[in-house]
Amino acid sequence: MNAPLPSPAGIELIALTKRYAQGSVAVDGINLRIASGSYCCLLGPSGCGKSTTLRMIAGHESTTSGDILLENRNITALPAANRGTAMMFQSFALFPHLSARDNVAFSLKMKGVDKATRQQQAQALLERVAMGHLSTRKPGELSGGQQQRVALARALITQPRVLLLDEPLSALDPFLRTQMRAELRHWQRELGLTFIHVTHSQEEAMALADTMVVMDHGRIEQVGAPREIYNRPASEFVARFMGGHNVFATTQGKVAVRNDHIQLAPTSSTGWPATVSDVEYQGTYVLLGLQLDGEATGPVSVMLPEATFVQRPYAPGERVDLSWDPALAHTLTA
Ligand code: ADP
Ligand code: MG
Repeated sequence: MNAPLPSPAGIELIALTKRYAQGSVAVDGINLRIASGSYCCLLGPSGCGKSTTLRMIAGHESTTSGDILLENRNITALPAANRGTAMMFQSFALFPHLSARDNVAFSLKMKGVDKATRQQQAQALLERVAMGHLSTRKPGELSGGQQQRVALARALITQPRVLLLDEPLSALDPFLRTQMRAELRHWQRELGLTFIHVTHSQEEAMALADTMVVMDHGRIEQVGAPREIYNRPASEFVARFMGGHNVFATTQGKVAVRNDHIQLAPTSSTGWPATVSDVEYQGTYVLLGLQLDGEATGPVSVMLPEATFVQRPYAPGERVDLSWDPALAHTLTA
């Protein structure tokens, strides 16, 4: 038996602003539409305003100005519990002394729901996330993946239409993080809810998101699908933050070129002269660090497939020319 779930909802932010008392602007008039039922990642460096944005959506932080709409309903002034949103916290934050079922039922207990009803609802939600058979275990008796599902069920007990996740995976070791990321994506699809997930990891955001929102200094730099943002970064900031790109100031303007789209040739050809500074073996590819000659200094990275490198290896100190197919150079507007 499956617990009924509420329908997902879209979120719209209109000129949303948060200014803290000291006068610093954490979120600077952002406008954003998040589609109902989508997986949205807010991505950006530490301090760019991701958590503040999420906490304003959740109702855990007041807004300075602007509006938050949930499916056309203005929720800006509503208390957190009446918004139709729920938050899933870092490292799951389960109560260690309570069973999975009591963890899930906890907020209903706080609301004064009778024991039979809350246990039945908690059990139904645990079944929904394939944890029904383990509902009497305590968190310490569950794997990381199972704990995450309990945390998910606990967030879902309030019937949210939008689930908010603030760096849910960042305290986990890299192996578990990748595993849990796949689980999150699976459950988002399975439950059909809107997820808004904050992360500073571009790799995590690209793996998870239908829509990525790249932020810097309280503003939105770019919104789009991961492939769109990776292949068409709107600004030098996005190109550099996403990684895997080199930025060149050419006679046609500033361009971003992916590090797997750069060719190396012996000097005396017609490319950009450079010197190899370091060589890193990464398994399926080899990453070369290079220093450009002349005025246009700054490090450049080039990624060669392992087989290409084995056929023609490069060593630190070696002089080369860099070139790329102009069709693969993306012009930056800012
Ligand atoms: P992120 O989650 O992207 O790392 P935050 O939203 O937590 O960033 O913070 C954005 C900015 O607001 C930062 O400069 C931070 O120092 C500031 N800030 C966050 N919370 C507070 C607070 N309670 N009081 C004052 N400044 C804050
Ligand atoms: Mg944060």
